[in-house]
Amino acid sequence: MSVKIGLEIHVQLNTKTKLFCRCPTKETEAPNEHTCPVCLGFPGSKPMLNKKAVEYAIMVARALNCKVNRTFIFSRKNYFYPDLPKNFQITQYEFPLAVDGFVDVNGKRIRIKRVHLEEDPGRLIHVGGDITTANYVLVDYNRSGIPLVEIVTEPDFESGKEAREFLQELSTMLEYIGVFDKEREGSMRVDANVSVEGGERVEIKNISGFADVEKALNYEILRQRMILKGGGKVGRETRHFDEKTKVTHVLRRKEFEEDYGYIPEPDLVVYSLDEAELKEIFARLPELPSQRVRRIVSRYSIPENLARVIVYKEKALADFFEECCKYFEDYVEIAKWVATDLLKCLNWHGISVKETKITPQGFVEMLKMIKNGEITARLGKEIIKQYVSTGKHPRKILEEMGIERIEESKLREICEEVLRENEKAANDYKNGRKEALQFLIGIVLKKTKGSADPKSAAKVLREMLES
Ligand code: ZN
Ligand code: MN
Repeated sequence: MSVKIGLEIHVQLNTKTKLFCRCPTKETEAPNEHTCPVCLGFPGSKPMLNKKAVEYAIMVARALNCKVNRTFIFSRKNYFYPDLPKNFQITQYEFPLAVDGFVDVNGKRIRIKRVHLEEDPGRLIHVGGDITTANYVLVDYNRSGIPLVEIVTEPDFESGKEAREFLQELSTMLEYIGVFDKEREGSMRVDANVSVEGGERVEIKNISGFADVEKALNYEILRQRMILKGGGKVGRETRHFDEKTKVTHVLRRKEFEEDYGYIPEPDLVVYSLDEAELKEIFARLPELPSQRVRRIVSRYSIPENLARVIVYKEKALADFFEECCKYFEDYVEIAKWVATDLLKCLNWHGISVKETKITPQGFVEMLKMIKNGEITARLGKEIIKQYVSTGKHPRKILEEMGIERIEESKLREICEEVLRENEKAANDYKNGRKEALQFLIGIVLKKTKGSADPKSAAKVLREMLES
């Protein structure tokens, strides 16, 4: 029984003001603080379109390889629910902003059906439970009217995992474009529709968090398969995903888009852009993550997997990597350290590289110390940990550790000593048993308490043994 999954993703655009009024979109503790007659839906109030939101949505549509319409209109989607007191949502239906795009994720092409702009409804707070169990509901209209770009895919996903990977790609892409705050709660909300061969389409509403999208889909696929295998029928319905129990419940049955009775919004004019305006907006689109991976791989000759880790973690980390490359030519070495040890430390603290005091110059300085044998790689790892948490310069950290640099002459002295004390191993090496070298290096490291670099020790020992 094959599975088809389509996604509808609602993304809050990070404009300063709302889509149809001048209320701020900034987060605030006080409920209903950022409201006015327009976003509260008072009779007689008139919407005024935020041009910035249109530009942002066009950039998103372009990044998704869509055909952007130069002329579009807004429509009223009629429904009765307290999150929108006008009893309709201003959205786009007949003539959306953009159509027919695609995104390639892990070698698979996901088609984008449409991209449109609409207003966010108010936020409902279910007190004492969730949508199906709450004692009562509060409404906060601060969210009402925040611009949303809705991205609708074709049913091209075959598993929850594919859907999650797509959302990750999309989220990073939007972050790179700079129109979206990933960290803001509820800034990306997903509706997923799933149909298993032989059954009808089931929609799961309002899932936030990529991991939950995958879980909701996996649950739903299993549920539908069991019904169908048991000879039952899966009817068209809308379901809710319970974040606590990770299962879905039915909300309403048989719902179709036409049921909303869309009509064109009479309070807004037909919006038209000329070719030049459109081109100007397209030109503002920055380099996207997939493009950046390609460029970084070819420019710095680093492995693609490292480039992907760096670029997709966050834009700031990729910026940091490229900045480091200005001060040190061993790009692969930089990439390795950024993608492994630095990233580990950042993840451990749950922070962005922007929030630390580390600088590309300081980081590169540490890599140079490793390269010229001044410190060991192991010591380097320790220094990075302290560098990230304290922001002190690597040299200062090294000084405070009280570990002195092993001079070349001192290292030679120790190596001679080790060879004298381990005649058997030395002879083994000379008689062709090359693995004896590892044993000797181990002893050198032990004697220097780890402050000698294994590579330099190997080099000196080899010289002595082979001369
Ligand atoms: Zn307002
Ligand atoms: Mn919508």
